[in-house]
Amino acid sequence: MRLILLGPPGVGKGTQARRLAEYFTIPQVATGDMLRDHIRDKTDLGQQAQSIMARGKLVPDDVILAMVEARLREQDALDGFILDGFPRTVPQGVGLTAILERLSVTLDAIVSVTVHSDIVLSRLSSRRTCTQCNAVYNLVIHPPRVLGVCDACGGTQLIQREDDRPETIRKRLDVYYEQTFPLLAYYQSTGLIREVPGDGTIDEVFQLILASLPEESIRA
Ligand code: ADP
Ligand code: ZN
Repeated sequence: MRLILLGPPGVGKGTQARRLAEYFTIPQVATGDMLRDHIRDKTDLGQQAQSIMARGKLVPDDVILAMVEARLREQDALDGFILDGFPRTVPQGVGLTAILERLSVTLDAIVSVTVHSDIVLSRLSSRRTCTQCNAVYNLVIHPPRVLGVCDACGGTQLIQREDDRPETIRKRLDVYYEQTFPLLAYYQSTGLIREVPGDGTIDEVFQLILASLPEESIRA
C-alpha cells in the first residue's frame, strides 16, 4: 500500500497515518516528525529548519525532497508507506513523481481529509506532542491516560509545539491554502484522490479511510 494523506494542519492526518501504518505494517513517513527529530538532535538540517517551522512557513522543497527520497529507499519502505505531511507544494508533488519513477513504484491512493477551519483551530490549540516519540494527544478529545505521561513511551515531556500557538496556526492555514491545496488539482487527473470527511471520531474517520481505499491494494 502506497498512500498520500493530504489535508490542512489539525485535520488528524498524523493520528490516522499512525493507525494506517500499524494496520498495513508499513512505515508512516511524516516529514514534520522527521524535521522535529532533526531539531531535537540538533543536526545541521534541524538548525536550518527550526526558525522556519516556528514561523509556520515551509522548509525548502529541495531539502524535503532529499530527506524523503533517502527515507523511501530504506528497507522498511520498499513494500509500502504512508506519506503524512508530504508532498506539501506542487514542486514537491512533481519531485515525488520523479522519486517514485526512480523506485519503479506507483501510488495506490491519495486520501484527502477535509474539515472546517474552526475545528482545526480548537484541535491544534489543545494538541500536545511527546518530544520522545512524536505521539500526539488532544487535551479535550484524546488525553493521555495519565496526565502528562505519554501512553506510548512513558515520556514525560508532552509539550505544545511552538507552531501550535494561535498566531502561528493561522499562518499555517494560510500556507496550506496557498501552497498545499493546489496539489489536489495536480493530482486530479490521476483518479487516485479519495475525499474523506475528518470531523468524526478517530475511529469513524479511520473506517471511512479504509473503506475509501482500492480493494486490490488492500489485499496485496
Ligand atoms: P501539520 O500538518 O500539523 O501542520 P507537520 O508536523 O506536518 O504539521 O509540519 C509542521 C511544520 O514542519 C510545517 O509547518 C513546516 O514548517 C514543516 N514541514 C513539514 N513537512 C514539510 C514539507 N513537506 N515541506 C516543507 N515543510 C514541511
Ligand atoms: Zn512518547
